[in-house]
Amino acid sequence: MVGPVLIIHGNEEQRREHLPRIAAGEVMWCQGFSEPGAGSDLASLQARAVRDGDEYVINGQKIWTSGAQFTDWIHVLTRTDPDAPKHRGISYFMLDMRMLGITVRPIVQMHDARGFNETFFEDVRVPAKNRLGEENRGWYVATRTLDFERSGVHRAAAVERVFRPLLEHAAQPGSAGEGRRIVDHLPNRLALADTAIELEVGRVLGYRVAWMQSRGLVGNCEASMSKAFNSELSQRNARRAINMLGLHGALRPGSAHAPLEGRYCASYMSTVSATIAAGTSEVQRNIIANRGLGLPRG
Ligand SMILES: Cc1cc2nc3c(=O)[nH]c(=O)nc-3n(C[C@H](O)[C@H](O)[C@H](O)COP(=O)(O)OP(=O)(O)OC[C@H]3O[C@@H](n4cnc5c(N)ncnc54)[C@H](O)[C@@H]3O)c2cc1C
Repeated sequence: MVGPVLIIHGNEEQRREHLPRIAAGEVMWCQGFSEPGAGSDLASLQARAVRDGDEYVINGQKIWTSGAQFTDWIHVLTRTDPDAPKHRGISYFMLDMRMLGITVRPIVQMHDARGFNETFFEDVRVPAKNRLGEENRGWYVATRTLDFERSGVHRAAAVERVFRPLLEHAAQPGSAGEGRRIVDHLPNRLALADTAIELEVGRVLGYRVAWMQSRGLVGNCEASMSKAFNSELSQRNARRAINMLGLHGALRPGSAHAPLEGRYCASYMSTVSATIAAGTSEVQRNIIANRGLGLPRG
């Protein structure tokens, strides 16, 4: 999501520095947008950046920073003009995670994963050349970033990756030894067809955004449609799989009795957050209603 935004908003020096390494997969980035008091209402963020000569000094806290413990760079939103209307006093920075004053503290999730973190900034001195876009115009760079974050066809691909093994499992012989397959015992086998149909829809929604990008357009409400549909599909698919596999389906990875290495239990728990990450389903629907359908803001 950083690469395309750099192509649109970065200057020549910033593009030369970052794009080749992003394209080669040599660097990992994390996103420092959300704060304890700024999630859906992101523009109310409070992290501060104060200009000091050729540098800015950044102080504040971010939360839910996915992968911050592994990444090399972070793109961060900060407030540079506290007196301006909230969308107009924000600036966007790119920071090397090794900079002095950045601390990362993990947040442990209910399925024992450590996917995201709290990230603290204490007097972090960042060169002014690391600002992406104009001072106080960072909000517009941020919304572009979110369009790219929401656009990915990867969500449908992720559902496909957990759906295919379930199909293969369903075609295996059942335990009763009467020549019937597992699928013949399933009470809700038609749900497999529902997922197949929805996967096709989800893939096409993702491809539509990719097609727009190939024409130099940035999908906005189209990206929100793809994000909302595919993140909700990931939950439906996990729920259907758990129901099909019966009580054993709820066993965690590592259990000897867990079918398919417990991946559906893991996917059931991890997809709970899919409709929150990258903007909640309610936020996506607001965007679709407002920017896509032209309805007034609710
Ligand atoms: C797995 C995961 C990974 C994440 N990774 C990152 C990351 O790497 N970097 C980062 O910066 N952030 C990250 N986030 C944070 C994510 O962007 C926020 O959680 C999200 O924007 C929602 O904000 P919130 O959690 O503060 O919820 P809130 O904004 O407090 O929302 C609470 C509830 O109110 C509803 N709501 C709020 N406003 C409205 C409205 N106007 N209309 C209708 N309903 C509304 C919401 O839909 C939600 O149901 C991640 C979150 C998750 C779950």
